Amino acid sequence: MFQPSLLRSDTLLNQRSYYEVSAVREAPQPPLQGSVRADVVVVGGGFAGLSAAIELADRGLQVVLLEAERVGFGASGRNGGQAIVGYACGQEPFEQQLGREDAQRAWAMSLEGIELIGQRIERFGIECDWVRGYLYAADSPRKARRLLEDLAAQERDYGLACEIATGADVQRYIGSERYHAVGYENTSGHLHPLKYALGLMRAARSLGVRVYEGTVAQGLTDNAEGVLLTTPQGSVQARYAVLAGNCMLPEYAPRLAAPIRDRIMPVGTYIIGTAPVDEALCQRLIPGRAAVCDNNFVLDYFRFSADRRMLFGGRVSYTTMTPPRLQTVMRRRMVDIFPDLAEVPVEYVWGGFVDISMNRAPDFGRLSPQVYYLQGFSGHGVALTGLAGRVVAEAIAGQASRFDVFARLRHRPFPGGPWLRTPLLALGMLWYRLRDALA
Ligand SMILES: Cc1cc2nc3c(=O)[nH]c(=O)nc-3n(C[C@H](O)[C@H](O)[C@H](O)COP(=O)(O)OP(=O)(O)OC[C@H]3O[C@@H](n4cnc5c(N)ncnc54)[C@H](O)[C@@H]3O)c2cc1C
Repeated sequence: MFQPSLLRSDTLLNQRSYYEVSAVREAPQPPLQGSVRADVVVVGGGFAGLSAAIELADRGLQVVLLEAERVGFGASGRNGGQAIVGYACGQEPFEQQLGREDAQRAWAMSLEGIELIGQRIERFGIECDWVRGYLYAADSPRKARRLLEDLAAQERDYGLACEIATGADVQRYIGSERYHAVGYENTSGHLHPLKYALGLMRAARSLGVRVYEGTVAQGLTDNAEGVLLTTPQGSVQARYAVLAGNCMLPEYAPRLAAPIRDRIMPVGTYIIGTAPVDEALCQRLIPGRAAVCDNNFVLDYFRFSADRRMLFGGRVSYTTMTPPRLQTVMRRRMVDIFPDLAEVPVEYVWGGFVDISMNRAPDFGRLSPQVYYLQGFSGHGVALTGLAGRVVAEAIAGQASRFDVFARLRHRPFPGGPWLRTPLLALGMLWYRLRDALA
């Protein structure tokens, strides 16, 4: 199979994750061979592409979906599973660039992204361990002040109230001495991302979407009938294309996404999974079974899986190389938070790439009237990808007002061009790491 450079580099991308071991994959869908026609061709079998395919099929359109590897191979099948309200960038880019009214619309759409998960689980009978409950945590007095201010502003401006705990009360929400303040809400939640992705694929196929795995979209040209997309052994003639390849898209097909590739940067992030712990310990450490995330710049995010494994995520790589002694370092961070896990073996370690944009705002738009793209989820895509698929389908069906809330956001390329942008970013991030450590 085609091996782009991110896959060849020293990453944990090819390591089997806990999710791959605990989900059941059906036989692969065959690669595309020969020429086919469709109303829309979707590139990418992650949450964004699958969501777009479902929404387009729901609107009566014929859809072909191309996935270079297997559905869920990318970030969607390997993430922390935390479906979080809001955006990685917060509300500021929406407020500052688009004004209060569109910022409110963007917020409402982020809530819709979460609701969509529940609706799809119910409609398509997807078993993916969906649990509501989310804990925002701060591990120093200064970060606690910032967290409480941010949560208060969120409640005042957008109406999402959190239960707040500080000091000894924190222990009612999390069995760790590390945190100075937490905020709990039960709009956001968590799920088994690969089971969800595979469920979305089954749903899409049940609606008539033709899915081709092991099929790299290599070339895309506009023509009189719309677009012609070429693959190693075939082609798709369609009226529209949706590019939902995340940061892997430029790796597989640099020319397909040339105008937008410098606006996202692949950043590695990693997860360890322990052996299962007993129910009593699980209840003591995270009594409400919420997903947890701190407010550091390089954040720790963790939760218990349905079979009571601690899935502990964090650390980043701005060079796309796996950080040295990753498992040891991550385990130490986990045990610092939960000393009770010191004797519990780590059974899995894996990683993947998030597509961050310069301002961490989602980057949705059009390369031409026929070619739409969805990228820049910036590590906050579990819920937002579902919404992205819905609004791009609305736009293709002639209702672009919600898509255009995002498309009107301005984005800048990362400086330095293809060779220098990664080292420059790595350097810039050192400052934020230092700030995390000192705060
Ligand atoms: C380790 C990790 C932890 C994360 N944790 C969280 C979290 O807890 N909460 C959260 O909200 N977000 C999280 N994220 C981010 C989230 O997973 C992503 O934002 C989201 O899954 C992006 O979905 P996507 O469909 O855009 O991309 P992907 O899931 O990456 O799908 C893109 C697909 O396109 C395919 N593709 C690319 N180019 C081509 C081509 N030319 N031809 C054919 N196919 C192609 C790829 O193979 C891939 O399968 C995490 C990400 C990682 C890596």
